[in-house]
Amino acid sequence: LVSREFKSTDTVIDIAGVPLGGKTVQIISGPCSVESQEQMDLSAKAVHEAGCRLMRGGAFKPRTSPYAFQGLGDIGLDYFKNAASKYNLPVVTELMDVRKIDLFLEKGVDVIQIGTRNMQNFDLLKEVGRLDVPVILKRGMSATIKDWLMAAEYIAAQGNQRIIFAERGIRTFETQYRNVLDVTAIPVLKKETHLPVIIDPSHAGGKAWLVPALSRAAVAVGADGLLIETHPCPSEAWCDADQALNPQQLKDLMQDLAGIAHIL
Ligand code: PEP
Ligand code: MN
Repeated sequence: LVSREFKSTDTVIDIAGVPLGGKTVQIISGPCSVESQEQMDLSAKAVHEAGCRLMRGGAFKPRTSPYAFQGLGDIGLDYFKNAASKYNLPVVTELMDVRKIDLFLEKGVDVIQIGTRNMQNFDLLKEVGRLDVPVILKRGMSATIKDWLMAAEYIAAQGNQRIIFAERGIRTFETQYRNVLDVTAIPVLKKETHLPVIIDPSHAGGKAWLVPALSRAAVAVGADGLLIETHPCPSEAWCDADQALNPQQLKDLMQDLAGIAHIL
């Protein structure tokens, strides 16, 4: 269902009135995690003022250590929706547990993100496949393109075909940066699937200074969008502080990208 053989033309996914896919590039930005109402208000303002039309932010965080901040949980979704709705920004947030699906629907989450660690959580994939909500499916950090396409097929086979692939870097022997952004995956995936493909340069590079270069690379290889972490004050971020852009850096990046891509 996700294959080009099934459908030859590019699919454009409508996210509460914002198109993703086709001839334009859509930038999704916001903090790694929801921390407070004030932090989300400042983030939403920055995302809006930079010209982005979609916002990200995690209320449920898949952390390596069980002792690290796990996200604010349910109340985090309220802070996020409150802030984003002031600027009409649809929200993207990660779902880790099928038991939170009703909450996500009740709160009006616009796009469900499946993180790298859950790419092959097949029960979770099947459940989001039954929903009428777009899904961002991140690539497993050690997943092949075939694994990734098949994971998407699990969602699509249940009826939900509004799937967006997100390349966020893969694990290799390199230790100098967080992950290796697989730029080759973009044209390969665009050939294999009719669905939109976006890049997350923040989790790929793991450093704010790498984000502009990786973003330009993403656009150059044909990505349909970018998922970028921003924070009103990156040094104070509770999660992924090193890779967050500040509001001015996000604005500068958006202007830079406008020169090389059609940002809608
Ligand atoms: C995130 O987007 O904050 C995240 C945890 O990403 P990933 O699943 O790619 O590590
Ligand atoms: Mn993060």
